Amino acid sequence: MSLKLYNTLTRQKEEFVPVTPGRVGFYLCGPTVYDYFHIGNARPFVVFDVFRRYLRYRGYQVRFVMNLTDIDDKIIKRANELGVSSHEIAQKYTNAFFEDIQKLGMQPADVYPKATEHIADIIHLIETLVKNGTAYVVNGDVYYDVSKFPEYAKLSGKKLDELRAGERVAVDERKDDPLDFALWKAAKPGEPWWESPWGKGRPGWHAECSAMSMKYLGETIDIHAGGIDLIFPHHENEIAQSEAVTGKPFVKYWMHNGFLDIDGEKMSKSLGNFKIARDVMEKFSTTAIRVFFLMKHYRGPISFSPEPLQHAVKTAERLNIAYTLLRRRLENVATKVPVNPAELSNEAQSFADLIPKSRENFNAAMDDDFNTPEAMAVIFEFIRETNRWAERASLSPAELAVLAEAKNLLDEWNSFLDVIETRASGVDQARIDGIMKILLDLRQQARAEKNFKLGDEIRNRLKETGVIIEDSPQGSRWRWE
Ligand SMILES: [Zn+2]
Repeated sequence: MSLKLYNTLTRQKEEFVPVTPGRVGFYLCGPTVYDYFHIGNARPFVVFDVFRRYLRYRGYQVRFVMNLTDIDDKIIKRANELGVSSHEIAQKYTNAFFEDIQKLGMQPADVYPKATEHIADIIHLIETLVKNGTAYVVNGDVYYDVSKFPEYAKLSGKKLDELRAGERVAVDERKDDPLDFALWKAAKPGEPWWESPWGKGRPGWHAECSAMSMKYLGETIDIHAGGIDLIFPHHENEIAQSEAVTGKPFVKYWMHNGFLDIDGEKMSKSLGNFKIARDVMEKFSTTAIRVFFLMKHYRGPISFSPEPLQHAVKTAERLNIAYTLLRRRLENVATKVPVNPAELSNEAQSFADLIPKSRENFNAAMDDDFNTPEAMAVIFEFIRETNRWAERASLSPAELAVLAEAKNLLDEWNSFLDVIETRASGVDQARIDGIMKILLDLRQQARAEKNFKLGDEIRNRLKETGVIIEDSPQGSRWRWE
């Protein structure tokens, strides 16, 4: 069965066919690092991370890029308020961002390009637009001329005349058309700046995503994702910039997650219901937060309110209990016994059959535009059975082998969902021990070959992660710092 995705551009579910078979270029619009991110921003981080990990699980080679907007009006404003440099603000909240997404269970992206480290690429993009007549220069500012891109607003489906009359478009006499947007902004006194062919200034927000997406993923990428609020103008402008340069489609599949509200109200600082993700993570476990997001379809709205949160907490607990039950039941059991159907009762055989069937049903749900609520329902049905079997007083070796396979399936799902806490378990300690043994063996081998530089590097880098290696005549041991 093939994977289908809802494409915002075509407003329908489409079969997913990547530009290069087997490979996926995936770009997610990252944060503007002027503050801690709020719980609404955590939603795309969780769901799109799960989707790219699922794609990898299904055998695709995924390159995942997430940008960091580290120069922007909001950063400059914040820096001025606090009397520090915008670089300091960006650095502080970049560090906080990495701490928070790790806590949220998001796996690292392949690249985290920063706007300030790609000024040359951004200038190059803007220069090309000026040269081909799609952009114009006014006193050190550069604007994109929307009238030169006939397909403008194809993503949002908005009517240009309505947009021009709309309140979201500020009147600015420097622009030929209120819809034209800034590619480059001339520096005002006290603002950070870079040299450019148009004088000192800094890039507009939209330009960075076009430049960095094309740099790391090529001129046409497979998936570009973000919150629904980014469709207009951000993603619309990215399309206009990139396609006016390359003449090729910028993105094959545009994916957008729905809004998050707080108790049915829009989250806003003025309403006092602004929820910082790191505060939420103080109160709720990572798995509960992830379950909360995954229990809803990513395109629908989600309400951050007590009832669904409590439900998510209970659900995460149920998953953990089921997993722990399996783990305990399988402790000290050799799990590599091949299951011989002749040794199974009809009842045990139907449990064994449920494993591939559940895997299939789960994948079918995920392949249908990442229908995580349906996929989670498959898991709940599955753990009802695993609980029933794990609680039995006695099990034959063949039945235990089936149970081990069932646990493997939960591990398989959890490898990209991260909704079960397997970390505190003895199983994990055994894994850590196994990994550490490999590292110690490799270090010993390096030293035996007189490659002391490598040996020292292994020791020093482990120390950075809080692992101390102790050498003795009997060999090397490790312990936590
Ligand atoms: Zn972006």
